[in-house]
Amino acid sequence: MRFTNMFIPTLRETPSDAEAVSHKLMLRAGYVRQLAAGLYMYLPLGWRVMAKINAILKEEMDAIGAQEISLPVLHPAELWQQTGRWDEIKEEMFRLKDRGGRDMCLGMTHEEVMTYLASREIRSYRQLPQSWYQIQTKLRDEARPKSGILRTREFIMKDSYSFDADEAGLDKSYELHAKAYHRIFQRCGLEFYQVQSDPGMMGGKGAHEFMAPSPAGEDEAVLCVSCGYAANVELAGSISPGERFKAEPHDIHAAKTGDGCPKCGAALKIERCIEIGNIFKLGTKYSLPMKAFYLTEDGSERPLIMGSYGIGPARIAAAAIEQSHDGDGMIWPASIAPFDAEIIPLNIKDENTAKTAEALYNALNEAGIETLMDDRDERAGVKFKDADLIGIPKQVIIGERNLKEGLVEVKDRRTKEALKVKPDEVLKAFKS
Ligand SMILES: [Zn+2]
Repeated sequence: MRFTNMFIPTLRETPSDAEAVSHKLMLRAGYVRQLAAGLYMYLPLGWRVMAKINAILKEEMDAIGAQEISLPVLHPAELWQQTGRWDEIKEEMFRLKDRGGRDMCLGMTHEEVMTYLASREIRSYRQLPQSWYQIQTKLRDEARPKSGILRTREFIMKDSYSFDADEAGLDKSYELHAKAYHRIFQRCGLEFYQVQSDPGMMGGKGAHEFMAPSPAGEDEAVLCVSCGYAANVELAGSISPGERFKAEPHDIHAAKTGDGCPKCGAALKIERCIEIGNIFKLGTKYSLPMKAFYLTEDGSERPLIMGSYGIGPARIAAAAIEQSHDGDGMIWPASIAPFDAEIIPLNIKDENTAKTAEALYNALNEAGIETLMDDRDERAGVKFKDADLIGIPKQVIIGERNLKEGLVEVKDRRTKEALKVKPDEVLKAFKS
């Protein structure tokens, strides 16, 4: 894409209402704009990052045999009444009536709808296991939306749900998801921990959260560097895609730095984190009240054993920025960057510069390198500032002086190391 054809409204000033680094940079670099409290508009660069993350989510979900489906955002109240959550959940749920006066709500999670579907369609053990997922909009009337796209009232989520015949099946589905989550966060270039969260209040057998260390996070992880034990500081917090909003203050002891590790006794450390995913063994919590039963081989009726698994792609994007930036702007991991490379012709009016830039732009795109070219008639300083701000991993700088020697500069956004190469060696320079 050419800069002159794209909508990249960068800002020189840091917006005063933004606190988290990711929030400030996303606004400054023209990735997002706010519509109202907790409601964000993704602009072209921001949406390209989301598309990259979602593609990774899909690949890894498909790889463990999960199947993508799509469910409505608008739900009839009856399903939520069956599980009791219509009354349990308070102001966080957006509720409305349709023209016939029927109670409806906007989905903050999809356990009820997924279980409804399974209850109607899964009849026999022969159809099990099943694993279904969607990447879709959720709504939650947060009391205090903040930190940009980290805590919003409307957000996109990858949520998957597993249906098994028994506990052993659930263990397997759960383990498959845990491993897929590791691959997803690794591929997205994040530093993260898998930590234990509280299974007790759900009556289930296991729950884990995935935490990306960052000062902008709202959670805290307890870590033991000696044995690798990791848990949420308050084991009662932030549980399944659906249960977070139910968490109330519990009389659970919160760990402190220096406390002894429950496994090995070494001193624990506490780290502030962004929760980027969670996995939960639901068991029969939803299948029993919603009568999602299947027939076993001997003809008896049993409830489906369920798991649910959530990831917020916007949180991955924000965590990536939090973990990877400098004073000049974002530094995207290559896998989720909006583009792979940016060509920066310093003086687009110079004929030789423009010709070289155009040839390189075509060559890189043809080689499958997604390339942005800053073809604006702007001062070099403006282009450098914007390039560092939007954080595309590789920059190709074309200046008249180097060009006289037949060279262009390939610069790494992270290390700021620059290499002078011939234009036809740029691809090779990327690889090294
Ligand atoms: Zn330990």
